[in-house]
Amino acid sequence: MIISVASGKGGTGKTTVATSLALSLSNAQLLDCDVEEPNAHIFTKPEVTGTKPVFIPVPEVDETLCSFCGKCQEVCVYNAIAVIKDHVLVFSELCHGCGSCTYFCPFGAIKEVNREVGVVDVGTSGELHTVTGRLHVGEAMAPPVIKEVKKCIDPEKTIIIDAPPGTSCPVIAAITGSDYCILVTEPTPFGFHDLLLAVDVLREMAIPFGVVINRSDLGDGKTTDYCRIEQIPVLMEIPFSKEIAMAYSEGKPVVNAFPEYKNMFLNMYKKITQITGRDV
Ligand code: SF4
Ligand code: SF4
Repeated sequence: MIISVASGKGGTGKTTVATSLALSLSNAQLLDCDVEEPNAHIFTKPEVTGTKPVFIPVPEVDETLCSFCGKCQEVCVYNAIAVIKDHVLVFSELCHGCGSCTYFCPFGAIKEVNREVGVVDVGTSGELHTVTGRLHVGEAMAPPVIKEVKKCIDPEKTIIIDAPPGTSCPVIAAITGSDYCILVTEPTPFGFHDLLLAVDVLREMAIPFGVVINRSDLGDGKTTDYCRIEQIPVLMEIPFSKEIAMAYSEGKPVVNAFPEYKNMFLNMYKKITQITGRDV
């Protein structure tokens, strides 16, 4: 079973939930797909056993074959290639590696070369298997790194995906294929607003989901009311705790710092298995 942990906005406690759930389970694999700012490893402290680079194919133009017809610029919807007089400029940071310019070049003047945009680390933290994607600083293309992370999925394990925050392309890349998604939110106006956006995305993708309300005793009851009206399961509520915040700041997973939380995470997992009808 693949369970992704997402949130409409950053800072809601998404990684806290993902790491604690993964550490509570036996035979689990934790995928950190928040590749622009991966931080699950701060809590799981894995021993990295392998690293592989992630490349995207970007165009390289042979100007001796080029007629400067402008077709490549015309087909590139990302403005990553431009023809200026008798030169073709490639802005590789903007390139999505879609291959259109190479395909449509009428003179075969473009070949594709690999450009490294990130790396994937695999490792272990006790019984937990970990995979961490890291997008290189200054790179904009998170989805190729996320896709490489997901290629490491072990079908024999329960997969927990720490998705990026928000509702844009990297989130879609991370949660696609999930059997269930946990949306972590907080009962604040910003948290509520971004929860609505995330709910829209998950409904559009037809992925079943439930909500974890972090710092549940702060703010108002709007989130709980909304979930009740919309029949969205509230899987767990985590009250604000100075001790949890301190453990977080010291890189300690909640379930290690407060073992009583392990049962709460296992109960949440049980609820998910009942909803999905899957237990592996
Ligand atoms: S499409 Fe090919 S021939 Fe035309 S400008 Fe681009 S690289 Fe040159
Ligand atoms: S590979 Fe795609 S995104 Fe990159 S320059 Fe060519 S057309 Fe643009």
